[in-house]
Formats: sequence, C-alpha cells, structure tokens
Amino acid sequence: NAANTEDVRAPASLETPLSVPNKMLMAAGPSNLTPRAAQAGGLPSLGPMHPETFRLMDEIKEGLQYAFQTKNPVTLCLSCAGHGGMEAALANILEPGDTAVMCKNSFWFDRASDMATRQGARVVPIDVKPGQPLTLEAAEEAVAKHRPRLLFVVHGESSTGVHQSLEGFGAMCHKYGTLLVVDAVASLGGTPLYTDRWELDVVYSGSQKVFNAPPGLSPITFSPRAMEHIQSRKTPCPVFYYDVLSIGDSWGCFGKRSYHHTLPVTLFYALREALALVAEEGLTASWRRHQLAAQRLHDGLERLGLRLLVEKPEHRLATVTAVLLPDNMDWATLLRTAMARHAVDLSAGLGPTFGRAFRVGLMGTNANPKAVDRVVNVLQDVIKNPIAAA
Ligand code: PMP
Repeated sequence: NAANTEDVRAPASLETPLSVPNKMLMAAGPSNLTPRAAQAGGLPSLGPMHPETFRLMDEIKEGLQYAFQTKNPVTLCLSCAGHGGMEAALANILEPGDTAVMCKNSFWFDRASDMATRQGARVVPIDVKPGQPLTLEAAEEAVAKHRPRLLFVVHGESSTGVHQSLEGFGAMCHKYGTLLVVDAVASLGGTPLYTDRWELDVVYSGSQKVFNAPPGLSPITFSPRAMEHIQSRKTPCPVFYYDVLSIGDSWGCFGKRSYHHTLPVTLFYALREALALVAEEGLTASWRRHQLAAQRLHDGLERLGLRLLVEKPEHRLATVTAVLLPDNMDWATLLRTAMARHAVDLSAGLGPTFGRAFRVGLMGTNANPKAVDRVVNVLQDVIKNPIAAA
C-alpha cells in the first residue's frame, strides 16, 4: 500500500548519539553558557498563556529593565536572534518614505541599511572610518540637515571593536524630532548603558553575548517617545511578528495579555537565570570586571607584539577586541590552530576588518583574568607554531 511507504528514508546520521564538543568560546559571540543557564534550559515546557509563564516574563522584564537601566514599560524579549531585534527596531519606527540616518563604520551598517531600505526608507549614511566612533558633532550635522525619523548607531561595534559613546546623542536627536535607535547586542551588561539617562528610544540586544544564555532571544526596550510615534504611525508595522503593539500584549505591556506566538519558554528560563546572575553581581561590578579583563587582554596582546585595530584606548570596546593580523599569518591559519590545538574559538574579521584582523570576545563569564591569560598563551603558541593548511 503506497500510503504506508516512505518516499524519504530516516537518515542514518540520526542513528548516532548527539555529540557536541566543549569549546572555549572567546569569539565575538556566542559566549559559553553558564551552568545555571544551561540547566534552566532543560526544565519542563509551559504554554504561552500559563500563569507561571506570565510570572516568568514579568521577572525577565524586570531583569531587562535593570540591564537596560530603564523604567520603560515596553521592555521585553523577542523570540529571535539579534538580527530580529534590529529588524524589529527599524520596522516599528520606520514607514515607507522615511529617512534613516545611519553611522557607516561597520558591518552592522550594511545589515541595518539593507533592512531599512527593504522597509521602504531612505538611508543616509554618515561615513566614519572603521575603527573610529561617530562624534556627536558629525551626528548633529547630519540630523540637523536631514531631520530623519531615526538615527541608528551601534553601541558595541563588534566588527571593529569600537565603543560608541552615546552621551548627548538622545537629547541631540530629540531637538530635531528624531528617534535614537541603538544596537547593544555586543555590549549590554558588559559596558555602561543608560537607556533613560541618555534618552535612547529603542535599544535591542542578544541573549548569547554578555548574558551567557543560549542564542535565540533579543531583549528590546522602547521609550515612551518611541511608543507615541508607533501608536500614531500611518501604516501598521510591516512585519506582524515584530509589531510591538501586538507582541507587547503577550508581555502584558499594555494591561491585558493575549496570545501572540508560542513562546520559547525554555530559552526564557535560561535568560531569566542569566539575568538573575547579572542582578546578583550588580551591573556596575559587571561593567568593571569586563573593563579589567579587556585591559588585561590588551596589555597581553601588546606584550606579544600584536596591535589593536582601535588606536585610542578610550574608543576600545571591553567586550570585543579587534586585533590586526600578525605579519605572515592569515586569519584562517590563526583560527584553525587555536581551535585544533586548544579548542579556543576566535573570530575572523567581519566587514571592514575581514582579512585585516581577528577578534577576541570577553563576554559575561568569559571576562575573567584566567580566560584572558589562556587566550594570550594560546595566541603566543599559535603565532610560534601555526598549523599549515591540509
Ligand atoms: N549587532 C551586533 C553589534 C552584533 O555583534 C551581532 C552579533 N554578532 C548582531 C547585531 C546580530 O546578532 P545575531 O547574530 O544574534 O543575529
């Protein structure tokens, strides 16, 4: 009987047990899971409308308000990677025909400008040399000239290792009726960020970086000013899944609770525990620990004769460092040797740093002196004894 036969056979690959190596994840992300987050992810599933799920979401919201340093009622996490946070931030603010001014100094400009263009916006880049941050003066010049709907900047510029200062940017944007959208995927929790104090309108992040939770969640927060605009936009958010007016309902942001989509609760458990760890340590202690780890890394790299891409120490990001490739070594050899001999994961360059630099991440639990010393020792060995390509 044809109805009882299979046209496609069960794959032989699934007969072998799942095998996952334990790598030291010192790349630009993801970072290693903490045991507490990993264990939480194995707890029983719950439905999206169960009261225990609502309580869990409320706890995550409070943890995120702490991490974002905000009282914004519309603070939640989206069920998607950091790219989804970026797409949601832009899709909720932009309407076709709007202008978006974007700092162009990194790979993330390419992604954000692609998304904004697909959403029908006109993108105006502010050209900044990769490895350098956008100055408030250059930002104001562009915002005053174009009066855009939004200004997009990346706080923790992970493709070049730049720390983008945000002080003054919010107030400047608001003088011109512009909203400030900030990518904090690679920085939230690891370097100071004050959503309310700095008047940031939309900030999004990722679960897999400083929080040491599994990839797949994107924390996001919207200021009252951003919500006012969203509530009065002429066209609905073009992507149903990312429409904060409906997803905010499932997070209880507007009073009632309604089903939006089946929530990845096991990821929520892990993020909840990750946020509990941040709260236990304290944000300021976490920021300081990341700063000290980065300083130790930068000193160690310089002792090896390596040069950082970002020249000015005050522009260097604590969580991700871009290091110029040593002479006579290509990035593939460097990464391959570190992984094959030491099970240490490092990143290649990305966008403007591709082929020029490699990147080291110090995020969450990995931002500690022991991990830093291990990376420096590994790099010393890799430079001395690279494994040639097969
Ligand atoms: N923005 C920045 C600054 C990032 O570092 C990353 C991840 N490397 C992203 C956005 C995208 O995040 P994801 O890979 O989770 O989509």
